[in-house]
Amino acid sequence: MVIFNGKGVCPAVAAGRISVFRRADIQVKRLKTDDTEAELLRLEEAKKTAIRELGEIYEKAVRELGEANADIFDIHMMMLEDEDYNEAIAEVIKCQNVNAEYAVAVTADNFSHMFENMEDAYMQARAADVRDISNRLIAKLSGNSGNGNIPDEKVIICADDLAPSETVAFDKDKVLAFATAYGSSNSHTAILARSMNVPAVIGLGEEFLSAVKDGDIAIADGFSGEFILNPDEKTMAETKKRQQEEQQKKELLRKLKGKENITADGRRINIFANIGSAAGIGEVLLNDAGGIGLFRSEFLYLENSSFPTEEEQFLVYRRVLESMAGKKVIIRTVDIGADKQCGYFYHEKEENPALGLRGIRLCLAHREIFRTQLRALYRASAFGRLGIMFPMITSKWEIDEIKSISVQVKRELTDEGMVFSDETETGIMIETPAAAIISDILAPEVDFFSIGTNDLIQYTLACDRQNRHVESFCDNYHEAVMRLIELAADNAHKHGKWIGICGELAADTNLTERFLRMGIDELSVSPAFVLKVREKVRSLDLS
Ligand code: PEP
Ligand code: MG
Repeated sequence: MVIFNGKGVCPAVAAGRISVFRRADIQVKRLKTDDTEAELLRLEEAKKTAIRELGEIYEKAVRELGEANADIFDIHMMMLEDEDYNEAIAEVIKCQNVNAEYAVAVTADNFSHMFENMEDAYMQARAADVRDISNRLIAKLSGNSGNGNIPDEKVIICADDLAPSETVAFDKDKVLAFATAYGSSNSHTAILARSMNVPAVIGLGEEFLSAVKDGDIAIADGFSGEFILNPDEKTMAETKKRQQEEQQKKELLRKLKGKENITADGRRINIFANIGSAAGIGEVLLNDAGGIGLFRSEFLYLENSSFPTEEEQFLVYRRVLESMAGKKVIIRTVDIGADKQCGYFYHEKEENPALGLRGIRLCLAHREIFRTQLRALYRASAFGRLGIMFPMITSKWEIDEIKSISVQVKRELTDEGMVFSDETETGIMIETPAAAIISDILAPEVDFFSIGTNDLIQYTLACDRQNRHVESFCDNYHEAVMRLIELAADNAHKHGKWIGICGELAADTNLTERFLRMGIDELSVSPAFVLKVREKVRSLDLS
């Protein structure tokens, strides 16, 4: 038994036989020619065929994976038509008097290196797309089908890397899992694997590639990122047990997917999901959440070695909004401080960081950080249905300040000719007792409330959420907490505003009935809990 460690990009486990994916080997040779016109014509013909094939792949992907996931092939078609890319190939043919295959290969290298050297992870992952379209073009030029061995039994596909078009070409009923030596979790291959709901482990390294052989047995663990080659009996038995548990979860999913979040007596609520990065979207969609109720944007800051730029943030927010295809996405502005300290941002050491400069306080104290984020958020708002939410509010003046900064930011964007949506909702987190107690004063100022029970419990019961010694005092069901939630719900509704819960308590099905009776309109939970809460809601009769 040998274990390789990579990155799990689709959370499921698979065990079975391996098939090593081999591409038809196309050697690109540099050939001199006197007739560059003929090479340009060949290139044009190959491009047309490649675009026609991509159109067919696009249709297959739309049928099997939905329009949003098929878009990548639309983009590939556009990339093949891209002026810079085509001019670069033509230049190589004309200036060097060489064959089209060679010119495409050289251009592919140049363009993919350019993408790889960009700072943004999303753009880096586009290098694989350039290679994918270029390989297709070379295959057409050399009269090759471009397909490798596609197995006809259910197997774990092992490869160096897989291009998006190779990934969708597999009949998904024949694939147990994907395992690759290279690849990034932002690549479209990873995104497609997630939406195909096939376990995938990437970045397993070169040793993995030389170790795997057709017919060997392996376990691909999309949760931990482990790839276990030739597992022993005990490991195999444990995996089988996990698979059974997974199967039970899938049954629940099948039973409840597409069903409404409605009680027996007809009360409907939203069940949304919480995520910490764009990588969580696959899980959100897989578990059929109605939208994103909390995107914890601070992880973007915590994962970086310096403050993420406006452009970096904009690209992430836009991607999340586009992937959710018109479903509501509530992004919380950066909540660093307290237990989430940012290594590169040194502000004074605090004796009580949970009571210190965190969340909105830090944003109001360092307004450039806040303005950059608001600009990125408003710019992204043009690409979907955005809600912006502010953490750690205690007083009305904070909302007044936020509003005046937002007005300035929007005015600036308008002056610069940038578009944003006027329908962007703005709301606050109710996670301090102060905010709950004055929720009658705060409600008229915002579009919605979202209760952060994790902090509301900590601040109401004076129990540090990080300190295990006070855990027994930290009663999630404490009447003080329940009363504050009810008070905020009453005040929100009195002013015609909606109220959700996005703290961990939202997923506690012992409280679902109580929350619904309080009039809570939305529960936002970790993706894995969406269906469990839906099941509970559907079992209730509040009449
Ligand atoms: C909360 O406090 O309940 C909450 C959702 O925010 P976080 O856990 O990120 O502080
Ligand atoms: Mg909180």
